[in-house]
Amino acid sequence: MTRTLLTGADLVLPDRVAANHTLVIEDGRIADITTGLRTVAAGERRIDLTGHLIVPGFVDVHVHGVLGRDVQDGAGAVAAIAAALPRFGVTAFCPTTVACSPRELTAVLAEVRALRSAPLTGSARVLPAHLESNFISPEFCGAQPVGCLRTPPAGRVQGPGSRVQGPKSKGSSTLDSGPWTLDWGAEDVLDVIFAFRPDVSIMTIAPELEHGLDLVRALAGAGIIVSLGHSAAGYEASLAAIAAGARHATHLFNRMTPMTHRDPGMVGAVLGCEDVTAELICDGRHVHPAVMRVAMAAKTPAGVMAITDGTAGSGLPRGARARLGGRTITVEDVARLDDRTMAGSVLTMDRAFACLVGQAGAGLVDGARMCATTPARELGLLGHGVLAAGAVADAVVMDANLTVRQTWIGGHLAFDDLRSAE
Ligand SMILES: [Zn+2]
Repeated sequence: MTRTLLTGADLVLPDRVAANHTLVIEDGRIADITTGLRTVAAGERRIDLTGHLIVPGFVDVHVHGVLGRDVQDGAGAVAAIAAALPRFGVTAFCPTTVACSPRELTAVLAEVRALRSAPLTGSARVLPAHLESNFISPEFCGAQPVGCLRTPPAGRVQGPGSRVQGPKSKGSSTLDSGPWTLDWGAEDVLDVIFAFRPDVSIMTIAPELEHGLDLVRALAGAGIIVSLGHSAAGYEASLAAIAAGARHATHLFNRMTPMTHRDPGMVGAVLGCEDVTAELICDGRHVHPAVMRVAMAAKTPAGVMAITDGTAGSGLPRGARARLGGRTITVEDVARLDDRTMAGSVLTMDRAFACLVGQAGAGLVDGARMCATTPARELGLLGHGVLAAGAVADAVVMDANLTVRQTWIGGHLAFDDLRSAE
């Protein structure tokens, strides 16, 4: 039996930073957290991490890609992203799609299913996917392909077999235009989603679409986390969607109706409702750090989760070209389409943590909560997202500059930048 002792580091625990402590890892779990340097016994290995910080492994529930790979690139893309993410401190992630055809969605979800049933050692854990779905507002779709958007079908209340009888609905005729017009409709998309039900965790939808609230109820009833976003819904319509079962918000502030003092919009509904947990793109660009602080104050760190909304451009140098759901993007301060539309971020979770702690002034404990604990809770991952005895040994070792030096996943070293420095 091998026990690993990570000694001498400052551990970011759920309620405090414990200086010069030892994290004891055994059988993939955190066996103990003790003070000071322990004597090494037989069967134990010790790694001296004096001067380093250990935080719980980051959980990113909204990431499209990294280092040149997009989840929709085809076979092997999700596995490549899972292999790349530990160097940024990510130990678990939801592969995230943009609106696409049922065939493309099937390909991504099939890979997600395969990787969930046979996880790859040394790679970030693949969680059920987040779909920035076909059921979003064309006015607020951002970089999503308008031709792939559909309105929810009437009468759909359950999974496969509940289709309304009669001619097959092809969804909204008004939205079925453009170069992506293909022979598929809203029903076909929902068939794929329900066929892969356990492999879908979060679905972003615009509840104001015709039959949108029916779709919220159907998805929430099936156990999918319904997320408000890419939406023109105002305050009242947002509250109606929350009452229907929505409990998550996709990149709060970005691509939704804003808040003013007389018109709270979707932002006001999300900030004011404790039943809804909000994603926040923590790059300091998508949301000003001052407004990040407002969100944290309104919702507490238990109601906010840091996301990257990272694209294939994340981790690449400025000026690099990459893809987002088949469209070309350029790496700048954010990712942009050729027409300058903001198309997700070039952020990685280590930088999101640094932004929260630095620019947004969150503190280490709250930073770790928003990058690990809250997203793990949101997805129902028991024993994840905290450094505590008995928890899964997913942890990130950072140096004083908050640069990732080691990432541990299930007690295995998935990324190690310290050995080379010695
Ligand atoms: Zn996104």
